[in-house]
Amino acid sequence: MAAYEYETHDYDVVVVGAGGAGLRATLGMAEQGLRTACVTKVFPTRSHTVAAQGGIAASLGNMGPDNWQWHMYDTVKGSDWLGDTDAMEYLARNAPQAVYELEHYGVPFSRTEEGKIYQRPFGGHTTEFGEGPPVQRTCAAADRTGHAILHTLYGQSLKNKAEFYIEYFAIDLIMSEDGQCQGVVCWKLDDGTFHVFNAKMTVLATGGYGRAYFSATSAHTCTGDGGGMVARAGLPLQDMEFVQFHPTGIYGSGCLITEGARGEGGYLTNSEGERFMERYAPHYKDLAPRDYVSRCMTLEIREGRGVGKNKDHIHLNLSHLPPEVLAERLPGISESARIFAGVDVTKEPIPVLPTVHYNMGGIPTNYWGEVLNPTEDDPNAVVPGLMAVGEAGCASVHGANRLGSNSLIDLVVFGRAAAIRAGQVVEKGKPNPAANQASVDKAFDRFDRLRHADGTVPTAELRLEMQKTMQEDAAVFRTAETLQQGVKRMAAVAGKLDDLKVTDRSLVWNSDLMETLELTNLMPNALATINGAEARHESRGAHAREDFPKRDDENWRVHTIARVDGAKVTLSYRPVITEPLTPEEQGGIKLEKIAPKERTF
Ligand SMILES: Cc1cc2nc3c(=O)[nH]c(=O)nc-3n(C[C@H](O)[C@H](O)[C@H](O)COP(=O)(O)OP(=O)(O)OC[C@H]3O[C@@H](n4cnc5c(N)ncnc54)[C@H](O)[C@@H]3O)c2cc1C
Repeated sequence: MAAYEYETHDYDVVVVGAGGAGLRATLGMAEQGLRTACVTKVFPTRSHTVAAQGGIAASLGNMGPDNWQWHMYDTVKGSDWLGDTDAMEYLARNAPQAVYELEHYGVPFSRTEEGKIYQRPFGGHTTEFGEGPPVQRTCAAADRTGHAILHTLYGQSLKNKAEFYIEYFAIDLIMSEDGQCQGVVCWKLDDGTFHVFNAKMTVLATGGYGRAYFSATSAHTCTGDGGGMVARAGLPLQDMEFVQFHPTGIYGSGCLITEGARGEGGYLTNSEGERFMERYAPHYKDLAPRDYVSRCMTLEIREGRGVGKNKDHIHLNLSHLPPEVLAERLPGISESARIFAGVDVTKEPIPVLPTVHYNMGGIPTNYWGEVLNPTEDDPNAVVPGLMAVGEAGCASVHGANRLGSNSLIDLVVFGRAAAIRAGQVVEKGKPNPAANQASVDKAFDRFDRLRHADGTVPTAELRLEMQKTMQEDAAVFRTAETLQQGVKRMAAVAGKLDDLKVTDRSLVWNSDLMETLELTNLMPNALATINGAEARHESRGAHAREDFPKRDDENWRVHTIARVDGAKVTLSYRPVITEPLTPEEQGGIKLEKIAPKERTF
């Protein structure tokens, strides 16, 4: 057994992650008087949330009529009827209050002439339950909304005396014999010391796993560490086959151009200069939901109407917009286009391509953020002491496809909900029972094995093999052939984890070892994704099967539950929650409005 010395820290709550979700949860927990630690592998304001550009959805109605029921309807339809209805109602109803709270905390939102929060149109957001024109629902701080939110929440968390452990890498969860989470084991990256955080509630807010793919808009730190820890604890992941491709990643670099660019009036064209989205989506046009726009772009390219020398991408046009709109509302993307595509957006179109952007799937939770471990008797059974929020979690509000600007609101609404819930279930001040030593030792054993891994495959090589496999075999369009091949290839790739070679054995700033730990986290996420996709014989949201082109509600309106053990994935299914929180008689949404129907654009 590996002997590592460590320091023990005792808290009511430990939050892992300091992105929008982790910070909102941390702030809320601290406000409730819970002794709260937030551990994060990167400095809080470097979390991927900082890169969020376009904005945060809430039916404030500042730019025309809007209400929570329309927001809920759009989210239900956007999810292609796979989201949990109670959570989607909770999101839409609590969104305005969560945004006003951000405003009062100090987020510098852009303003309308009258001084209200500025809102822009985003894909799939409409009025009149999809019958009316697009709505301006996405609250924005220019095209740097995530940056503004993250800095504000960090300041507020410090003000409320949350304690931060920065550049601490969480290795594994500590689980008691009877399945309760008791905290996390961490490695401090800058001095090589080890820390056990013993807490009554552990909140995973570790973000997505975009880096399982070769081309992604997400940061290199988005390695699904929460999902990896959960899988190793014997707990499941949910709906992992649903991976969002954003229509407008810059061709070549994958860097994001926000949907807000189309919200402000930008449009896509093919090699014939045609605004082709008008043909595919007469009602929504360029602001159709992301899964659909990405498929239309892929079809245009396949049919030979791509642009460029190899006819392998599409143009995003902004040059018709007044320069002052570009300067005021889209300054960040104007700069990105110049740096990453060498394009002056006031004169030329930006070359773009659908790029992996967001993970709808994640750690299953209820709408309080409590992690679920479905059993045959209880599909909604809760794991005591464990929560997951943000992109790491799956509440599930995005179902099979997330609407633009619905993630930032998910972070703050459910970060806040988790804090409210913890305030109810965590007994403040009560001493923590000692953490299960066997579980702590297991984490150190794994760490030590990887630290001394002396096989033949360098981490970077295996990571690239995984990324290329996922990119090729679990793409925008999928078939039995590519998926079956992908399942086999990924099992072989995961098998090579036993043959890894780590060259640096030190404990201080060992990025080789850290990236190896991250790879062991990416792998279960990737395995669950491709296996879930192979098994799902229908097309829904972002999961588009050419061999099963239709949605099949009778057999497949269910959540995929994936348990990953090494390279082995076991799948089962959990019913979708179809009941809203508020019955229709008490002012809830009309049930006929959210009944599944064909998704038209
Ligand atoms: C380029 C881009 C633009 C986007 N724009 C928008 C937008 O305009 N509107 C919108 O709604 N959504 C947008 N999204 C999506 C949205 O920004 C993300 O889904 C969201 O920010 C994720 O937040 P999070 O708090 O869950 O995780 P992140 O912000 O990714 O934070 C994860 C945190 O976990 C920590 N962490 C991870 N692993 C460990 C570990 N092992 N140990 C310790 N700490 C760990 C990290 O240090 C970090 O603090 C965008 C996404 C991208 C990539």
